Amino acid sequence: MKSNEAPPRGVLAPLRLNSIRSKILALALAATLVPAFSTAVLSYVRTRTALTETLEGELRGIGLQTAREIDLWVKERFYDLRVFVGSFEVTENLDRIAAGGGDSREALTRLDNYLAVVQERFGEYSDLIVLDPGGQAVSTVDGTARPPELPAEWLPELRLGEARLGDPYWNETLATVAATTAVPIESADARFVGVLVATLTFESLGTVLTGRAPGGEGRIDVMGPDGRIVVSTDAVSGYELAVSAAVRSRLEASDGSTEYLVDDAVMVGTLTRVDPIGWSVLAHLPAEDAYAPVARLTRSTFLLVTALMLVVGSVAYFIGVLITRPLDRLTAAAHAVAAGDLAVDVPVTSGDEVGYLTGVFNDMVARLRESADSLREQNQELEKISTTDALTSLPNRRHVISVLEQELNRAGRHDRHLSVLMLDVDKFKQYNDSFGHQAGDEVLAGMGPVLRDATREADLPGRYGGEEFIVVLPECDLSGALEAGERIRKRLAKEVFEGRKVTVSIGAATFPTHADSPAALIGAADVALYAAKEAGRDRVVAAEDAGSPDPT
Ligand code: GH3
Ligand code: MG
Ligand code: MG
Repeated sequence: MKSNEAPPRGVLAPLRLNSIRSKILALALAATLVPAFSTAVLSYVRTRTALTETLEGELRGIGLQTAREIDLWVKERFYDLRVFVGSFEVTENLDRIAAGGGDSREALTRLDNYLAVVQERFGEYSDLIVLDPGGQAVSTVDGTARPPELPAEWLPELRLGEARLGDPYWNETLATVAATTAVPIESADARFVGVLVATLTFESLGTVLTGRAPGGEGRIDVMGPDGRIVVSTDAVSGYELAVSAAVRSRLEASDGSTEYLVDDAVMVGTLTRVDPIGWSVLAHLPAEDAYAPVARLTRSTFLLVTALMLVVGSVAYFIGVLITRPLDRLTAAAHAVAAGDLAVDVPVTSGDEVGYLTGVFNDMVARLRESADSLREQNQELEKISTTDALTSLPNRRHVISVLEQELNRAGRHDRHLSVLMLDVDKFKQYNDSFGHQAGDEVLAGMGPVLRDATREADLPGRYGGEEFIVVLPECDLSGALEAGERIRKRLAKEVFEGRKVTVSIGAATFPTHADSPAALIGAADVALYAAKEAGRDRVVAAEDAGSPDPT
């Protein structure tokens, strides 16, 4: 039954696509997957590129805006400080202190008081100190503050009228990030009379960043020149490195966005310099957030492709079934035909190639059926010919003897009688001689209907040979056999051949009375027949009576 499944060969062998159904399924899935997958990849790349460009623009914009705001914020602080020191209270008292004398002590007190008032009013500034043009502390806000060590290059620059802001650092006393700042003090006639130094804190800079952070989870870190965070939108950030030095140099070198790891999270960010203070603004957000639309697209594409594959797969499977079901039916029908069942007729359910093949198959089976039928008829004909005598149309001797054997067996099994009549046409030679062989043949042919008419349906008359006949009488005892013989004789007496009557002599023998084998039974009947001839012909003689002269 498995012989029709050929093992897979060649290039398809590893795929085991050894059924039409799996081939259709594979083709459909490939036809779905290849375009779907390539389209998905293409749209992923496009979307990601577009998203990256948009994101870079957004981050860059945030960076530049923030940098401008910081620059403005610093300028505002310088302006504040310049306003403080532009006060007559500062220049006037500085001049008086420089002049010395008894007046200077009172001037110093007034300057100290002024600084104290300023510091109290503007919380952003602390450790206010006024230096003389040589850089020596003149007045401090609390009188105990250590004079600051300004960078060497500051004093010449201050002398030229420029304000300075130092690098941010962690101020232990204030417990916050702070930076030293200095503005020149000029008299009304534009003389350089000293420097105001202050420690600046950045709380108000934080408000500049409010609402600017990119995306939901994004943040802005404003870094000092050393990369430590001065202010950040992320409240928990302290004075720490925003990103590693390596990442910072990569960010500085890049003119687009850069991806890097921060605490095991991939971030996307841009770095914008804040000139001239040497700070930088890092605007960044988790890549997961930044590329969430891409992830959503990938997910929905995956779902779509899966759904598509399910639908296409089902359709392909259905088509496969449509194709293979008739083929399966054909295969089953072919097996049935091979097993000898020619009654099969496969329904043609489609007009396609398989339908055509089914039609051809049905035609083939119909032809086979026709030839099998005619063969059967011919066989029956042959069978009839082989068992029938041509002249009389009666069963021939061989057939009658074979039936006699069967009937004798049956009679033996069922303990029944069975009789045999042997007939011989009287003086037939004379008849032949008188009317010719042809007329003799007509007499013999006429014996068929005579014997049939005179016997029962169950009896079997046959031609034994020449002008001799035999009748097998199942379930018939001797008296029945003698009656049958008499019926035959009387029936024959009515028959007229060529204007002349014909008679027969009949011998009867019965099983089990006279014999128990076909040959012995025929022999016994034959002996009785001989006795009938001896007794004068045209009579029936029973086997028992064999040898005893007939009274008639
Ligand atoms: P009886 O039996 O009464 O003793 O005499 P008979 O003339 O019938 O004796 P016999 O058996 O000697 O003759 C039989 C004859 O039957 C001989 C033969 O020519 C003839 N015969 C046998 N078969 C055929 C046949 O098929 N056709 C014809 N026409 N004659 C046949
Ligand atoms: Mg004879
Ligand atoms: Mg005879």
